[in-house]
This record gives sequence, C-alpha cells and structure tokens, in this order.
Amino acid sequence: MPIAGSEIVKMLPGRKPCKDCGFPTCFAFAMKLASGGATVDKCPYLSDEVKADLLDLLAPPIRLVTIGSGDNAVKIGNEEVIYRHEKTFVHSPAITLLISDKEDDARVDEKIRKIKELQFPWVGVELKADLLALRFESGDKDKFLSLVKKVHDATDVGVVLISEDPDALFAARDIYADRSPLLYPITEENLDQAIPRIKENITPIGLRAKSIEELIPLTTRLKEEGIEDLVLDPGSKSVLEAMRDQTFIRRASLKQGFRPLGYPTIGFPCLLDKDRLHEMMVGSAFINKWAAIIVFSDFDRHTLLPLLVQRLNIYTDPRFPMAVEEKFYEVGQPDESSPVLVTSNWALTYFLVSSAVEATKVPAYICVKEAEGLGVLTAWAAGKFTGDAVGTFIKKCGIEDRVKHRKIVIPGKVSRIKGELEDALNLEWEVVIGPRETTGIATFLPSFAKQLK
Ligand code: SF4
Repeated sequence: MPIAGSEIVKMLPGRKPCKDCGFPTCFAFAMKLASGGATVDKCPYLSDEVKADLLDLLAPPIRLVTIGSGDNAVKIGNEEVIYRHEKTFVHSPAITLLISDKEDDARVDEKIRKIKELQFPWVGVELKADLLALRFESGDKDKFLSLVKKVHDATDVGVVLISEDPDALFAARDIYADRSPLLYPITEENLDQAIPRIKENITPIGLRAKSIEELIPLTTRLKEEGIEDLVLDPGSKSVLEAMRDQTFIRRASLKQGFRPLGYPTIGFPCLLDKDRLHEMMVGSAFINKWAAIIVFSDFDRHTLLPLLVQRLNIYTDPRFPMAVEEKFYEVGQPDESSPVLVTSNWALTYFLVSSAVEATKVPAYICVKEAEGLGVLTAWAAGKFTGDAVGTFIKKCGIEDRVKHRKIVIPGKVSRIKGELEDALNLEWEVVIGPRETTGIATFLPSFAKQLK
C-alpha cells in the first residue's frame, strides 16, 4: 500500500526549509518521494535509521527481482495492482523451459535451439520465451555441472538453477556467477547452511516451503541477513492449491501490504500435470494468476505461441494502445518500383495491412505514421493523420530514396486528405486512394503494382 506524502513529511527533519534536496519545502520533497519522483538520499539530514525506514516504506509492495544479465536480463515483480484494469501489470511472467541433466545431449541441444530460435514477430513486438531452468536429477553432480557449463557457453539466456543438493547448487552458481541466476530451492532444511554461501555472491534466491505460512519465517530471516531478491514457491501440490496460493500471496502483498510475502512467485506446471496439453493449460492459468516465473517441461511453436499471445494481451498497458514504431517497413523484398502504402501506427492496423500485403505476394513498402497508436480514421478525426502531418513524415522517413516512382497509396477511409497531402508533398507525389478496408488490398495491390513497372 503506497505511503502518503503527509505521512512521509512527519519523518523528515522538519528544519527550516534549507532546500538542499532541490525542493522548496520538506513537504514538497515528501510529496515527490511518495510519487516516486525523488529519492531518499536527496535529503542529507536524515539519520540512517529514518532513511532505512523510509526506504522500506517506499519499496514496491512486490519486490523487483532481476534474473540474468545484459540484454537477456528478465525483470519480475514490482507489481502494484491485482487486476490489470486498475492500472497496469508491469513485468510479464518469464516463460521458462526446463532441461534435466537426465536428458540426452540431442534433447539438450534441441531445447537450447528452441529457446534461441522460437521467436514470433507479433504486431510490432518479438514474442519469445525468457529463461532456462537447469535441473539436477541424475544424482551425478559432475553430469549436472557439465550441463550447466554447456548451457552457459551456448546461450546468454538467464537461468534458474534447480538442485536439492546445496553443494551442486552452489557449484552451478559459481559457473553462472557472471549472470545472476536464480538458485532454487532454498528451504527451511538447508537455510542455515545456505546463508553464508549465498552471501559469498548474492544472486536471486528461490524459496520453497510446504505452505504459505512456512514461507514467512524464511523471507523474514533472509531479509534480516540482507538477502532480499527472493522468489516464492509455496509448495502447491495441485492446480487448485496453486491458484489459491498465488491469489493469497498477491492479495496479502498488495491489499494488506504484508511485506514478508511481497515477492514474485514461481510456478511449476511441469510438476503439476504430466500430460503436455494439460501442462500448457495449467501454465496458462499461472499467467492469469500472477506467477512471475512459469516452468514448462517442454514446448514447441504450436504450444508456445498461444501462451505468449495470452501473456501479451494481459501484460500490455491498457492505458495506451499498442503501437508500432514510426518508419517505413518492407514487406517481401521491395525494389525501386514497388508500391508505397501509408497507414497509422496502431499495432492492429499495421498487422492487418502488412498481413494483407504479404498475402498478395507483391513486395511493397508500408510507411507507418506515428498517430499515438490510433487507427487511421480515429487518428484523422483527432488531427493526427492530416495531409500535412503525413506529408512531413513521408519527406523525412527516407522512402523518397528507395523508389523511383512518386505514387503513394492512402487508405480509402481518409481519401479527404488527398489534396492536402499532395500540397504538403509539393505536388511531387501522386496520391492514390486505396481500398477502404484491408480486405480490398488483395485485388487492388497486384494491379496497382503492374502500373508501376
Ligand atoms: S533537504 Fe531535507 S530538511 Fe532540507 S528542505 Fe529538503 S527535506 Fe527538508
């Protein structure tokens, strides 16, 4: 639960405003702190104790945890709402592929290839799985460590290291020390032994208990030890239990502000159902019910894509339409006589237009004008897709250097911008009115392309 500025100000020094924090009064600074627009260290007169209390009060109700490093770092947690429509979800769950050290080399190679290659361009974004989970099951520590080394050398993707044997777990951590792996499981039984070894090289920790209640002393103890990047597994033994536990943890952290459960969670559909299709359905439920890491025994493009699309739909910000970048896009391998079409940057519009063009097999350029993610007609009505604005974009986007003709196709629904656009383009381009609907592109584009040859 966020703390109000009026509460924060009571903890500030209350000096005559010295303005050393950059704000005119302590109250102004407190308000900024509450809204996340300033950091505690800006006031130099806070005692260490007050500073620590403030940091604790201002921390997000679900801690932000980062697994992996560089471009492949995966951030989870930092959530503020239970339901997406209340504001937005922040970090989408990490879809994770399990590799056991009992699997043979060919299978391991295939899974490494999957995590690298199963990527899907989708309305302007690249959908893909996020993490690998490497599991010690064989009983042969050397075998596990050679799997860890192999994966470390083969891919930069972040990992969850899974071993019931703490020696094997920390030896694997040492191989992955440069990439912030998640170590799992730390339990009540191995906690005392694990703490000094965790402190040698702090990295995110996956805590497993037999119930939510038993997680609480574990998180409290680790926090006292200064180990706070935690991921929770309440040890759910069935799908029903898992959904109940995920819901309880989410509500306790966000509605009650209960700090000991204010961490992201991990779910294991791979352990809850052996049937591959059922496993995917359980994974789908975990996406809906807030698990931050979801571990699958395997997937292929047909089972992965629906999960990724479901995740995308839930974890996009409902306050902003999905948009694609303003630029010209190539469909196929267009050349200097290929058609040029223009549209707005609502992701769905771009997706429909590019799919329709692709289906004709006519290589073409699609110039996508930034319009705050609105569809063409709405963007025109809002003054974002006027002839002047489109003309300015066409002149600066670089398409003039790519084609020798000067014909540009506008959506039929905004035929009224034709004259204004031609003026904006100094009458150097002929503006052609295209179909009103994308379905019309199938017949329009092939014959139009012939005229340009
Ligand atoms: S630096 Fe601290 S004491 Fe000075 S005005 Fe800012 S908050 Fe108040």
